[in-house]
This record gives sequence, structure tokens and C-alpha cells, in this order.
Amino acid sequence: MGDVRQDAQGLPLAKPLDEAAIQAFSSKVRGQLLRPEDDGYDEARTVFYGGFDRRPELIVRVKDDTDISRVIALARESGLELAVKSGGHSVAGHSTTEGGIVLDLSEMKNLELDVEGRTAWAQTGLTAGEYTAATAAHGLATGFGDTGSVGIGGITLGGGVGYLVRKHGLTVDDLLAAEVVTADGELLRVDAESHPDLFWAIRGGGGNFGVATRFQFRLHEVDEIVGGMLILPATPEVIASFVTEAEAAPEELSTIANVMTAPPMPFLPAEVHGQLVIMAMLVYAGEEVEAGQRAVAPFRALAEPIVDMLKPMSYPEIYPPEDDDFHPTAVARTMFIDTIDSDVSQTILERLRASDAPMRVAQIRVLGGTMARVPAEATAFAHRSSRIMMNVAAFYESMEERAAREAWVNHFAAALRQGEGGAYVGFLGEEGENRVREAYPKSTWDRLAEIKRRYDPSNLFRLNQNIPPAIEQ
Ligand SMILES: Cc1cc2nc3c(=O)[nH]c(=O)nc-3n(C[C@H](O)[C@H](O)[C@H](O)COP(=O)(O)OP(=O)(O)OC[C@H]3O[C@@H](n4cnc5c(N)ncnc54)[C@H](O)[C@@H]3O)c2cc1C
Repeated sequence: MGDVRQDAQGLPLAKPLDEAAIQAFSSKVRGQLLRPEDDGYDEARTVFYGGFDRRPELIVRVKDDTDISRVIALARESGLELAVKSGGHSVAGHSTTEGGIVLDLSEMKNLELDVEGRTAWAQTGLTAGEYTAATAAHGLATGFGDTGSVGIGGITLGGGVGYLVRKHGLTVDDLLAAEVVTADGELLRVDAESHPDLFWAIRGGGGNFGVATRFQFRLHEVDEIVGGMLILPATPEVIASFVTEAEAAPEELSTIANVMTAPPMPFLPAEVHGQLVIMAMLVYAGEEVEAGQRAVAPFRALAEPIVDMLKPMSYPEIYPPEDDDFHPTAVARTMFIDTIDSDVSQTILERLRASDAPMRVAQIRVLGGTMARVPAEATAFAHRSSRIMMNVAAFYESMEERAAREAWVNHFAAALRQGEGGAYVGFLGEEGENRVREAYPKSTWDRLAEIKRRYDPSNLFRLNQNIPPAIEQ
């Protein structure tokens, strides 16, 4: 028997498209088609994370909703696996496919701002950084995550936890409406009145329900912020006190603290390179600079800062320029926990010291505020009362090394687990169905599976953190 090519789920691949099918398809779409023999194919198949060296049969850089419907029809009729790519940052490599079709949204970047009405319609090929730069020109913002190159497609559908989470909630809390092309190729406008079930599901249920072509977001006045990077020595007391201060801080302040080995960056003194430090990002998004200075002062006072770059700045400066050629390989685990006291901090430091990965990190995001006031059943993101999101990660360079790094993150995550645990779908890797289920309480999962059955009964959108359609009773 010859080799049977398999897709990412280990299923045998459908037959490749024949020339006539590709020609017929290409005559119907406006967007560019890229096949393995084409110039630009390698660049087009590259995703943010290294380690996903997959060769799609066809990449389509769609231009409009009709293109999207046509790509969906091609996937449906051919049986080929369909990957949907917005910003390409899937931690699980879901925006590329071996032998399937990539629906690449990166050329759909239209943004319509209603400055007076404080809303924006944004096509899903935009990145968080591009959207933020455009809205900041009017002193306005919608909250996304900590990285500008992340696509608004993936982050929004997962929930969206970032620098405005305590002040303005998750990204989905600012989602007013969306346009979605479903598995049957139909373009639906979804909001609180129209297809409310689907509107509920896409606010945390990921890419399971269709291709989101546009989102309508609420905009907030976010102009000058006080924030930036603060690097502190990593001791159990400083870590625990950092968390206490972050919980006690005004809601205008959101923090992301990375306990990690200090990289050899020029702004860090040579003697701390490779040492464990707290590399924290702070954003105070309130009206008064003085109030922001007061809010960040307790963090500066936790220990003699190694680096203190906290300052008044324009909001988009929080997304510094990125290197397009940076494609890290990493394994990570995500969870929610309730407490980080000095015992837990001690565990964090011990586990980090026990690894020899050149780059390893425990990331602490204190939640609460506006995000926590939304009822758990209001959106498919249900972890509203979770107090802290915790992510642990190790970078690796070779596949041999990967297994050891994976064992380390698993042990680390187990050591930190408190109660139910849970998971943020946006940070899940390829970790199996049980972990996808951990992203949703049972009632949320059941409701999502039922909505999936109605909108995607054949599970066409399966290359994602998959919620299989409920079986009809
Ligand atoms: C460096 C880095 C930093 C991150 N920081 C944060 C953070 O601070 N906060 C946070 O909440 N998350 C964060 N994430 C997680 C991130 O939100 C998810 O990985 C997200 O899925 C990436 O979106 P994307 O559009 O770039 O990815 P893609 O790989 O393009 O998409 C990921 C998946 O989302 C679905 N999808 C994407 N676009 C669409 C669409 N238009 N229609 C239907 N389905 C779609 C598909 O299933 C796809 O496989 C980070 C990820 C990385 C790599």
C-alpha cells in the first residue's frame, strides 16, 4: 500500500483537485489563487508559529463575501480540509492545512469608522495593530490582546483578553454585530436581534460556525494612557504582591506579568540576562495622566525596578513594531486560577528554574472589572468569574527537544491547577477534545453543539478547537 496522505486530524485526505476544477473555480473568484508551484506560495503558507510546515493544495486570498462563499462551496464539494486564516496566529496551527484549502482573509482590510456613533465595521483581515492605529487617529479604541500582529478574526471569535479587559471587558463585549458566511455559503448578518443564537456562539465559540467577514465593534475613548514595560526582580514576595496590587488597582489598569528568563536585550543590564525576572506590561486607560501615575506607583514600589519604562503614551504605542520573520516554536498550557500567594509564586519560580529551555515563561493576567460583570451565560466565553488567567510556555528548537518541553509545561500546569481549571480557547494548542471541553462549562458546550448542528451539521468548519455538532435527538 502506498502512503495515504492525512490531514491534521489524521483523517485520509480527499482526492486533490483536478485541473479542470481549479480552472473552473479560478474563473469565478476575484482573489488570488496560490498553488505549490506558484511564486509566493511559501510565503503565503507561512503562519506565525514555526513548526507547522504544512503544504496546502490551494490558498485563496479572498477579496469579498462572494469569494468566501465560493471557497466554502469548493471545500464542501471536494471534501478537502478547510483552514480559515485571519492573522495566522493560531497556537494550534489551525490556519494552515496539509493538502487542503486555505481561505486567507489577509486582503480584506476595509475599516469603516463612525466616529460620532463610536462604532467601527472592520473586515477580518485586519490585525489588532492595524485596527488600533486607525481608530487611535480619533482617540478611540476597541480592546484586543497584547500583540499587534494577531488577527481580529481569531482573537474576537475566541473572546479577546487584553490591555483594556478590566476597563472595557473582552473584545466580544464590544462586538455589536457581525457578518458570517455559513457552511451553506449564505451571508448572515448576526446581532442581538438577527440570529441571536449565532451571535451568542461566535462570542467565544471560535471559528466553528462560519467565516466571519466583518465585525461591528463599539469604540471607547482611549487616547493617552499611562503604561509600558516594568521589569522587576522575580522573588516569591514580589510576584505575590504584584498580583495583590493588580487585583486592588482601579479598573482602568490592566496588567500582564511574564515571569521569565530575561532575554539578552540591550536595555537590560548584562548581569540579569538569563535570570528570572517579572517582565510586566501595564496599561492605565483612564482620563487623567496623574491618576494613571498614581495607579502604577505601587508596582514601581514593589522592588527596585530593573527597567522602568512606564510613561504617558498614545495607546497604539503599546503595540511595538514586530519582525515578520519571527516564527517561534513553543509549547504552552493555559488555565484559570484563583490565587497567587507566595507559595504559588514559589512553585512558579521552582518550576521555571527546573527547565533549561532558553526561553520559558509563566504569564499572569489578573482579570476582573468590566469583564467579570457580564453574566457567564451572556456569551460563549463563560469564564467571567475567573480571577487570573495563567499561561505557561517553553520555546524549543528541535522536535527531539519538543517532547521534553511539553512534559515540562504539562507538569507545570498540573502543579498550578486550582479547582476546575478551565482553559481559554484562544490559547489552546492541539491538546485534544477534553481540553477543548475545558474551555466551556457543560451548559455552554451543549448550547454550542446544538447551534453547530443547526449552522454546520456536517462539521465543514472542523479545523479549529472543534465543537462537533450535537446529534439530533
Ligand atoms: C503572540 C501571540 C499573542 C497572543 N496574545 C493574545 C492576547 O493577548 N489575548 C488573547 O485573547 N489572545 C491572544 N493570543 C491568541 C489569539 O487570540 C489566537 O491565537 C487567535 O486565534 C489568533 O487569531 P488570528 O486571526 O491571528 O489567527 P488565525 O490563525 O488566522 O485564526 C485562528 C483560528 O480562528 C478561526 N478564525 C480566524 N479568523 C476567522 C474568521 N474570520 N472567521 C472564522 N474563523 C476564523 C479559525 O478557526 C482559525 O483556525 C495570542 C496569540 C499569539 C500567537
